[in-house]
Amino acid sequence: MRVAVEAVIVSGLGAMVGSFLNVVAYRVPRGESVVTPRSRCPGCDTAISPRDNIPVVSWLNLRGRCRGCGERISPRYPVTEAVTAVAFAAVVLARGLDEGLLLALPFTAMLIAVASVDLEHRIVPNKILLPAAVWAIGVGCLIDLDAMPERVAAGAGAFGFLLVAALAYPAGMGMGDVKLAGVMGLYLGLSVIPALMAAFVAGTVVGLVVMLREGAAARKQGVPFAPFLALGGLVGLLAGSELIDLYVDRFLS
Ligand SMILES: [Zn+2]
Repeated sequence: MRVAVEAVIVSGLGAMVGSFLNVVAYRVPRGESVVTPRSRCPGCDTAISPRDNIPVVSWLNLRGRCRGCGERISPRYPVTEAVTAVAFAAVVLARGLDEGLLLALPFTAMLIAVASVDLEHRIVPNKILLPAAVWAIGVGCLIDLDAMPERVAAGAGAFGFLLVAALAYPAGMGMGDVKLAGVMGLYLGLSVIPALMAAFVAGTVVGLVVMLREGAAARKQGVPFAPFLALGGLVGLLAGSELIDLYVDRFLS
């Protein structure tokens, strides 16, 4: 019961973080500050009032349109907020409330921001990856120093593995994906292995479907890979050690 209450509270936090991630995903690729000024409607330039800035609720209340000019507001904003809320709740349900959340929740937020930016702009910004890497190392050293060698090795291994994949398949992957995999290793340790497997399976399935439906143009352009890495990262975070145990039980013992 208690963990359910905690999950609901943390999902509220997740919705607010998701709202901030929308700001990050909009402004970082445009080189704008994520702190100031207040968000404005891109249609009529009116500052968005606090009552119209409540995650998910305001978008539904306004039926996806600006209160001032009626310009459509993309559903990606409430979707990002809802996904972050659900992901935060899932992390708490899977891992409980402890200091590990200081790594797990920022990691989750980073994955969602990166997926959102890559879907729209086809880039994975260093301005998100670098602070995420610094946080993983700094906070990791503070709360679980013993695990750091494994995390650093996992980061280096994931970076190297994706580097080889990107060199072999340059249309599908860029250096941003390679660096993202490295940061994922810093957060996940050994769980980065099932995370990358999940990302490749999901990416391959969706990539094949897109190519079959859209033909040569899609084949040349490829499919942005960071959203699949983000999905894999969540799998690794929520179930990584269970998946490793399952594999070891099934095949190695
Ligand atoms: Zn407007």
